[in-house]
Amino acid sequence: SAMDQAPSQRAYQPQIQLSNKRVYGSEASGRWRPPARGFVPPNHFIPIAEEIGLIITLGAWVIAEAARQVKRWHAAGFGELVVSVNISALQFHQAGFLNEVQGILEQAGTAPSSLELELTESMLMTDMEVSIQVLQAFRDLGYRIAIDDFGTGFSCLNYLRRLPVNILKIDQSFVRDMQTDSASLAIVASIIRLAESLGMETIAEGVETVEESGLLSNQGCNLMQGYYFSKPLPVAQFEPWLQQWSGNP
Ligand code: C2E
Ligand code: CA
Ligand code: CA
Repeated sequence: SAMDQAPSQRAYQPQIQLSNKRVYGSEASGRWRPPARGFVPPNHFIPIAEEIGLIITLGAWVIAEAARQVKRWHAAGFGELVVSVNISALQFHQAGFLNEVQGILEQAGTAPSSLELELTESMLMTDMEVSIQVLQAFRDLGYRIAIDDFGTGFSCLNYLRRLPVNILKIDQSFVRDMQTDSASLAIVASIIRLAESLGMETIAEGVETVEESGLLSNQGCNLMQGYYFSKPLPVAQFEPWLQQWSGNP
C-alpha cells in the first residue's frame, strides 16, 4: 500500500506497570527516512514540520496509525494495551481537533480509552481556559491525558489542580540525574507526591538501569519507560517483543 512506501515509519516504546510487571502501553515516536538520506530524528523534523504546518497532517497520520496498531494488538490478545501519541501545540490548538481525533478513532474502530494524548505544560499554559475545556471534553469521552516532560516547564500549580489529566510524565533529565544530584531526586519525589495528592498517576521516562527502576518504584512511581525495558521498536518488532515479555527486562 501507499502507507508501506511512505518515508515515515513509527516506532513504539513499551511502557511497563511495575506493580504487576505487565505492559501498560506504548508510546509512538516518529522515524523519518527520506530516500537516500539516512535517518532524521524527530528532534530535527518535528520543529520543521511545525513551522511549515505539516505537523497537522503528520499528527493526524500518527494518531490514525496508532489507533489501527493498538486495535491489532488487542486482537492479538493484548487487550488492555494503551497507545500514547505526542501532540504538538499547533495540533492541539487547531479548531475542531477533538472532532478530528474522534473521526479517526471511529474509522479505526478503536475506543478512546485506548488512546493517551501526551501534551506539554507550556502548550496548556497558553490559552489556559480553552485548554481546560478541550481536555475536559476529551476526558468526558474517555481519552487519557498525560503531561509530557513534566517539571521542565512553568506549571502553575493552581491550574494543574484544575487540569483534567490522568498522568504526569516525569522528564528523563530528572531520572538521569537523580542518583548523582539530590535536587533531581527531590524533584522526582515531589512530582510523585503531587500526582498522588491530585489523584493522578506518574510515569518515568528514560529509565535505563535496574537501579533507576528500583529507586523510582520505592518512591511510588508505578509506570516506567526506557532503554532498561526496551528501546522504541519498529512496528514489526513490537508484537514479537510483547510475546516474549516475561515481566523482567
Ligand atoms: P519525548 O516525547 O520526550 O520522547 C522521549 C524520547 O526519549 C524519545 O526520543 C525516546 O526514543 C527517547 N528515549 C526513550 N527511552 C530512553 C532512554 O532510556 N534513554 C534515553 N536517553 N532516551 C530515551 P525520540 O523518539 O527521538 O523523540 C524525541 C521527541 O520528538 C519526543 O520527545 C517528542 O517530543 C517528539 N516527537 C516524536 N514523535 C513525535 C510525533 O509523532 N509528534 C510530535 N508532535 N512530536 C513527536
Ligand atoms: Ca512523549
Ligand atoms: Ca518526554
